[in-house]
Amino acid sequence: MGLRRLSYWQFPFVLLLLPLLLAACVASGPGATGSVSTGADPHAVEPTHAATEALQALPPLEPVTLASGEKLRVVASTQIIADVVRQVGGEYIELATLLPAGADPHSYTATPADLRTLNQAHVIFINGLGLEEAMDPVLENLEGDAVLVPVNVGVTPRSLAEEAGTGEEHGHEHDHEHGQGVDPHTWFDVRNVMIWVQNIQETLSRLDPAHAPAYQEAAERYRQELEALDREIRTAVESIPPEKRLLVTDHETLGYLAAAYGFKLVGAVLPSFSTMAAPSARELAALQEQIRSVGATAIFVGTNVNPALAEQVARDLNIAVVPIYTEELSAPDGPAPTYVAMMRYNIQAIVEALR
Ligand SMILES: [Zn+2]
Repeated sequence: MGLRRLSYWQFPFVLLLLPLLLAACVASGPGATGSVSTGADPHAVEPTHAATEALQALPPLEPVTLASGEKLRVVASTQIIADVVRQVGGEYIELATLLPAGADPHSYTATPADLRTLNQAHVIFINGLGLEEAMDPVLENLEGDAVLVPVNVGVTPRSLAEEAGTGEEHGHEHDHEHGQGVDPHTWFDVRNVMIWVQNIQETLSRLDPAHAPAYQEAAERYRQELEALDREIRTAVESIPPEKRLLVTDHETLGYLAAAYGFKLVGAVLPSFSTMAAPSARELAALQEQIRSVGATAIFVGTNVNPALAEQVARDLNIAVVPIYTEELSAPDGPAPTYVAMMRYNIQAIVEALR
């Protein structure tokens, strides 16, 4: 058990180095640009790509002994991960989701009931990449035998260097830290979720080999659905004039969407990969100036995020606040009860707001 957990908790060690690298970059500031001898050249942030090595392999997975009629007990941290797990595991798993509706994955901590669920699980699927930052101490100290599997194993994470490079007006100012580390919101590139599907299928199949053919069949069917979704998003984006493909968000949630489908990131009310920070007055003023200069027409705000600050910024600029589902799904009878429906809903809301 300890060995299994260790195998996961080795992964973030590379991530732990990231804040140091980023801090060095922030500390050097714009004035140091080009001063190669101090190592402050902005290209020196290249090593943040080491983050791509952070989640390289699945942990060791041994078949679980299940009694007759007993199902594999699976926990997913977020509703989005739970939906993707459900698509692959179907009726052969007993699935619990940790985060309730409206919860913020960055700040959520486990309740006593969650702890019981976690300790009884065979496997716990998490995002990894720092999304469940507030829950890390709990996940590190579980009493049960659950194996912890980050669905993002094999996904190439976006780093501060790439985020800063997207909006050239931001340049290399780095007057904020973008949270720290890498962008955990990987599900906004559908191809990343195809990697999740692979990881989930492999994990379930190794823990519960008796149902491996069923998991494989479900994963294959779902992959085709995701490929269709990916094409659908590309077609939808084409209906937005290129110069209007501008994204302003509550925190930096849509970096993968921008990179994969051709949007430009203008900025975020909270210039961070996490919600566990607050913007300074200077950062808000800079964002307003940025929005004005590029002519962005909307701020996209996650349904699980307090929209007050975004509404204030939007009011000042006379632009729209558009709610989208960034980190959770809707109720089953709502417009975004699955990952695929969520992406469809969001892209439609974005297209309508921008074109
Ligand atoms: Zn977030």
